[in-house]
Amino acid sequence: MNLDITTGLFIDGDHTPASDGGAFPTVNPANGTEIARVAAGTAEDVDRAVRAARAAFDDGRWSRATPRHRKQALLRLAELVREHTEQLAELETLDVGKPLAESRRVDVAGAANCLQWYGEAADKTYDEIAPTGPGALAMITREPLGVVGAVVPWNYPLIITAWKIAPALATGNSVVLKPAEQSSLSALLLARLAVEAGIPAGVLNVVPGLGQVAGQALGLHPDVDKIAFTGSPEVGRRFLQYAGRSNGKQVSLELGGKSPQVVLADCPDLTAAAEAIAWGIFYNAGQTCNAGSRLLVDSRVHDELLAEVVKVAESIVVGDPLDPATQMGPVADQGQLDRVLGYLAEPAGDVVTGGTRIRPESGGYFVAPTVIDGVDNASRIAQEEVFGPVLVTTVFTSEDEAVRLANQTRYGLAAAVWTRDLGKAHRIARELRAGTVWVNTFDAGDVMTPFGGFKDSGSGRDRSLHALDAYTALKTTWIDLERS
Ligand code: NAD
Repeated sequence: MNLDITTGLFIDGDHTPASDGGAFPTVNPANGTEIARVAAGTAEDVDRAVRAARAAFDDGRWSRATPRHRKQALLRLAELVREHTEQLAELETLDVGKPLAESRRVDVAGAANCLQWYGEAADKTYDEIAPTGPGALAMITREPLGVVGAVVPWNYPLIITAWKIAPALATGNSVVLKPAEQSSLSALLLARLAVEAGIPAGVLNVVPGLGQVAGQALGLHPDVDKIAFTGSPEVGRRFLQYAGRSNGKQVSLELGGKSPQVVLADCPDLTAAAEAIAWGIFYNAGQTCNAGSRLLVDSRVHDELLAEVVKVAESIVVGDPLDPATQMGPVADQGQLDRVLGYLAEPAGDVVTGGTRIRPESGGYFVAPTVIDGVDNASRIAQEEVFGPVLVTTVFTSEDEAVRLANQTRYGLAAAVWTRDLGKAHRIARELRAGTVWVNTFDAGDVMTPFGGFKDSGSGRDRSLHALDAYTALKTTWIDLERS
């Protein structure tokens, strides 16, 4: 592996050290060793980045470029991301421990696809004319907001970054991106590729740094027009406070989840469902906001389904994410390991498989795929987001009980229903308070459909054309035609 790792902040088209020379380590979770030290942005650096973004916005180098021009640059960026698949995938895998094949197939490919999709949308979205009658012309136009602060987590660094920056850039905004501490490297390379693609300097800036320093400074900055945040509910609420304490900037929040898999007795194929249920929680070592972390199953099919899920769990190859045979890597850092093991210390049910740290000799943060049966839905492990490879199961005996248990959570990001009865599927799907409901599948999705949650899972939606609303404001221009 011959990686070109850049670690400086990226402001106004160039890498630069932090104003106070500070840096923080980024660690390979597969072996606990330091990969590099990344510049730790200060409040002064955030201010510098916001000023660069504002200058770029105000002089129109991007905000007033034609939509076709913006499209071409975003399409070129998508192409460059694909051309740099190996390098981006390796950075992502080193930083957060995803199996390399998944980093290529899901993370890099997904980010490129998203950039391409919004690039293509840039010159295909139209404004509106209101039905005023002949005496006036009232135009309703979409205007970019200005400077967007994007603050993202480490579990899907490139994809979630693309979900924010692609619609923001397609609509003419400038961006200051604050990646998570665990995963700055791919974002820094992406910013360089953006300039190479023809996105002018100053339009996309990246300020890595600590949440409480760089993240907070961005949230409180009086010249940031919008924060697009993905992360935990606790930090999401802080951004609402930062907005209230500063300039009342817009805030959209994509937060956590505790998504239920509801399996009815007439599930069409228990083996296929078990495969999807297992991968719905063990993919990315359970560090997926919409992970199906609660299995709610009809008591009549409980034993058979559980046996199948456990079979899949025990077949998963956990190991070095650079090894092509590996299907599940470590959790992202020591903090995550401690958090997951903390929950496993109080399993609140029968640990049917897993339940422990594994491969400690590697120095990495590996946890065995874990299934805990007979868990009360009100218990801590069934209510809080573990964010690790841990599935809890609970039985129900009626459809009403299934819906009640599914909705008995502070979260509302996603849910799935498994049944061959289409009427039941529709009825239950309507009753579930979740931003996405899958029927007889799990985690199917694409940039063309919205993604986001109800309740503590946040507000606003990433993906689809609806995301363009999050980065634009409507302007009415009313022209009196009789006096003009
Ligand atoms: P986190 O909230 O700790 O961090 C997210 C980002 O916020 C990081 O960039 C971090 O540096 C920054 N941050 C942390 N503290 C801050 C502070 N005090 N002020 C300002 N910024 C601060 O979340 P995480 O641990 O990185 O990610 C895991 C969480 O993200 C989980 O809850 C997960 O469910 C959620 N998530 C949600 C979605 C979604 O789309 N709904 C997607 C992925 C992850």
